[in-house]
This record gives sequence, structure tokens and C-alpha cells, in this order.
Amino acid sequence: MGAPHICIEGVNKVFASEGREVVALQDIHLEIPRGQFTCLLGPSGCGKSTLLNAVAGFAPPSSGAITVDGLPVSAPGPQRGMVFQEYALFPWMTVAQNVGFGLEIKGVPRAEAAATVERLLGMLSLLDFRQRYPKDLSGGMRQRAAIARVLALDSPIMLMDEPFGALDALTRRNLQDELLRIWAELKKTILFVTHSIEEAIYLADRIVVMSYRPGTVKRDVLVELPRVRDPADPAFNALKRELGMLVMEEQQRHHLAELRMAAVD
Ligand code: ADP
Ligand code: MG
Repeated sequence: MGAPHICIEGVNKVFASEGREVVALQDIHLEIPRGQFTCLLGPSGCGKSTLLNAVAGFAPPSSGAITVDGLPVSAPGPQRGMVFQEYALFPWMTVAQNVGFGLEIKGVPRAEAAATVERLLGMLSLLDFRQRYPKDLSGGMRQRAAIARVLALDSPIMLMDEPFGALDALTRRNLQDELLRIWAELKKTILFVTHSIEEAIYLADRIVVMSYRPGTVKRDVLVELPRVRDPADPAFNALKRELGMLVMEEQQRHHLAELRMAAVD
């Protein structure tokens, strides 16, 4: 085992919101090895996006440190690509242009860029859709294009914030399978946010369960089930029940907090 790829050390994040302080993250420590597929799991409001955005370099922590390859993260950078839930594609560009956009910005020679775009369109089953605009694609196709666009930059780290949250169950499973295939082939380090317990168990090497306000690491588990995982497998279900209890506790804390807020207002 070498040095961790991503190191999160004593990270705190406090937001001031309507005169109140919200401790979104409290004393988060995580060492993420190169090539690990890690899921951040927890109900809405427990700081998953805040942590991912801090690793991305979009919004720095209030205190603590994040390093990638031992270097402090202070801004977005080429080692870290981000895929959001709402496909961040340019509506005025075709699929192929969207996928190639970052390569053009980087000044990659045209022929080389075209070959890369072609390869990625193939990898994500988008070859027949290359000339379409985002508005003429299904949600699943748009997410494929968004993933291809991040892969084009060849970032060793992929940060994914509920990327499949808006998709129907079948499309979601297809994209999960494709992501696992790409991950195995390209050996990326993936930090993937979800509030779906099943999605986390289906995908991850490691699941970090977060607590609601303050957002802390409530449980950090390695998932050792062989892939392709089967949600009908008893071991899958045992883990699902165990994690389900933890997530439910946090969900209840969320509801109680909302009731309390409503009572104060
Ligand atoms: P999650 O992604 O797990 O749903 P977030 O990271 O979006 O959670 O939010 C964590 C907590 O921080 C929530 O309570 C949310 O209301 C609060 N929060 C997030 N962003 C801001 C912000 N820009 N200003 C104030 N509060 C915020
Ligand atoms: Mg979020």
C-alpha cells in the first residue's frame, strides 16, 4: 500500500444560515487509497455534497486539510473530475462536442482529440448519438455523456454527486454496471455520493456512513462481497439491514431537527 491518494484530515465546515450556525462537517478524517471505490452514504443534509465539494476544491473547509497525492487542494484541478446529478452539459453543443470540449481547452491536437472522443463515445454506447443535442437525449444518455466528458480529461479521481439519482431503476442499474466496468478498466479513484443504501452496496469497496448535523463519519465499512453483486444475496441483504438502521437513525434526527425549526419559526 502506497500513500493515500486522497487524504482528508480534521475537516470542519460551518455555514452561517439565517443567523444560525450549521456545522455541516465535523472532524472528518478519511484516507482514501488509490483505485478505491468509496461511497459517501447518508440522508439528505448530512454534508455529503459539502465534503465532495471540498475535495473538488469548489468550497474550502472552514478548517482542516485535504490533500491529493500529498499536495493541498485549494482549487479545482485536473486530477479531479466532477459528475453532478443534473447533467452539466452545454445545451448548444452536440454530444461529441461536449465530450471533446475539455480536450479542445487543453489544446490537444485535433486528430488526437477526435480519437479520444470516439473511444469514449464507444465506451459509453453513445456512438449513434454523437450528433445529438442534450435536449434530444434521455436522462440516462445525458449522464453517459457527462461521464464521458469527465473521462476525456483523464482525471485519476472521479467525484460523483448522486449522479444516477434522477434515473429510473433500470437505467440506473445499467449505468452502475458501466461505471463499474470503466472503473475496473481505467483504475480510477472514485468518491461517489448517494443516499441509496442498495446503490452503495452494489458499487463500493468501502462505504462511509455520515451522520446528520454535525456531519461526522458514523461508520466506515469495507464491502468484501464479490462482484457482480446480487441484491438478492443474503450477505448483501444483511449489510443492507445493518446500514439501513444507521441511515434511519440519521434520517430521524433530520426530521426532528426540521420539526424543531418549524416550532421556532
Ligand atoms: P447532503 O449533500 O448530504 O444532502 P449538504 O452537504 O448539501 O448535504 O448540506 C449539509 C448541511 O449544510 C445541510 O444542513 C445544509 O442545509 C447546509 N448547507 C449546505 N450548503 C449551505 C450553504 N451554502 N449555506 C448554508 N448552509 C448550507
Ligand atoms: Mg447533496
